[in-house]
Amino acid sequence: MTNSTMKTSSIKTSTIKTSTIKPSTIKSWGNYPSAETEQFFARYIVDVRKHILSNDELIARGQARSYGDSSHANTTLNTTHLNQYINFDQHSGLLTCFAGTTLENILNTFVPKGWTLIITPGTKYVTVAGAIASDVHGKNHHIQGCFSQCIQQITLMLANGELIECSPVKNTELFQATCSGMGLTGVIISATIKLQKTKTSYFSQDTIKAKNIEQALKIFEQKQDSDYHVAWIDCLATGDQLGRSIVMCAKTANKQQLKLHKSAKLNVPMFMPNLTMNRFSIAAFNALYFNKAKDNQNQIVHYESFYYPLDGLKNWNRLYGKNGFVQYQFVVPKQNGLEALTLILEKISNSKQGSCLTVLKELGPENENYLSFPIKGYTLALDFKVSPTIWGLLDELDELVLKYGGKIYLCKDARMSEQTFKQCYPNWTKLQKVREKFGSLQKFNSNQSNRLGLHP
Ligand SMILES: Cc1cc2nc3c(=O)[nH]c(=O)nc-3n(C[C@H](O)[C@H](O)[C@H](O)COP(=O)(O)OP(=O)(O)OC[C@H]3O[C@@H](n4cnc5c(N)ncnc54)[C@H](O)[C@@H]3O)c2cc1C
Repeated sequence: MTNSTMKTSSIKTSTIKTSTIKPSTIKSWGNYPSAETEQFFARYIVDVRKHILSNDELIARGQARSYGDSSHANTTLNTTHLNQYINFDQHSGLLTCFAGTTLENILNTFVPKGWTLIITPGTKYVTVAGAIASDVHGKNHHIQGCFSQCIQQITLMLANGELIECSPVKNTELFQATCSGMGLTGVIISATIKLQKTKTSYFSQDTIKAKNIEQALKIFEQKQDSDYHVAWIDCLATGDQLGRSIVMCAKTANKQQLKLHKSAKLNVPMFMPNLTMNRFSIAAFNALYFNKAKDNQNQIVHYESFYYPLDGLKNWNRLYGKNGFVQYQFVVPKQNGLEALTLILEKISNSKQGSCLTVLKELGPENENYLSFPIKGYTLALDFKVSPTIWGLLDELDELVLKYGGKIYLCKDARMSEQTFKQCYPNWTKLQKVREKFGSLQKFNSNQSNRLGLHP
């Protein structure tokens, strides 16, 4: 592949008819909440400009893999069709692509050529713009940081239709507001991402069972030299077994083979009846999963199953039924991390409202982006099926997270209060100043930003 073959005829200047669905009901990955919207699909830059200029207010939308209402609004501009590569430099590994390009596309194109992503979230079905807007992190955050750390440049369209470039060294404040800015500064048109060279699609993985949360954190500590850390937690275990876990640590494998795996075959074809996920089935699943797991050393696993275990089951979000679920992800500082996690896990196991998928990760130092989530500490992500009893529990968890100086993750959020948000993210005032300066305050708003008090 040469640079020239990677260049697209790219930026078309003529407007073609854009497909419009109006008005429709949209949901994101948690299937909660839903929103009525007029959704436009942009194919070319001129479409983006046209919709920005002809609508009073709107928010950009990608693959809707955020869980709540961050890409919901009365008017939404979907950029998933804006998905071509623009340029690839084989010497530096810098890839410039349009906003709607998915991580799946990038891996499928570049892994066979010996290049891979440096940072990826737990699903490859997200757009580059969505990953920037949430400043997503992976299982290697303690070493590599957030997605923005591999972004060299972003081209953004502002409220007046003007295109502006921002990067860590150019229009820095706009860059820091856009990376983690949840679409509130403008519409990302394209970005330049740094890929890294690789000789293998495989990891060497160690699996270690931890009898409780304290042991799990000790294993993270002992395995500081491994590139990736993650643990699955039985959030309903109690007493001495509180937070019993299966910890997985990995490094790049010696096996030198560049191979793609076939996409998921298994599918959840429809929403499961509401009763399927109940406290008994969840407790039984967690106990079975923990007991079946075995310690294992140097197991060779493909990146698909290590990075994206959930992508193996299509539409797994339907398991929670039609009313949907809320993913609650928080981070607490490393100092006092064990104490905070213990109290939070006790509250959850006492409530008997838990999830099958509770994931613990260690995060490294925070970056300078205004609404970025990670701080040096531990993050836990739990799924709660929507039911009248979860809201009180989640409010109590918010209080504990705040008490320990933690944060709640915006791209998973569907219900946080304005007060909690502003305590978690004191830099929200910096975001507002940048939005005001670049004319974004009135134009780019989502249902989430309205709820969190970011609408002027
Ligand atoms: C199974 C699963 C696992 C996940 N694992 C992780 C993980 O490990 N780590 C992690 O950090 N996250 C994780 N996530 C969350 C996911 O990475 C983020 O929510 C991501 O932002 C989704 O991207 P998207 O393209 O689907 O964007 P959407 O969900 O459509 O939108 C998300 C945000 O991006 C903004 N946006 C979208 N397109 C544009 C654009 N063109 N210009 C400006 N703003 C835009 C939207 O306005 C919105 O605020 C996971 C999600 C799922 C479903």
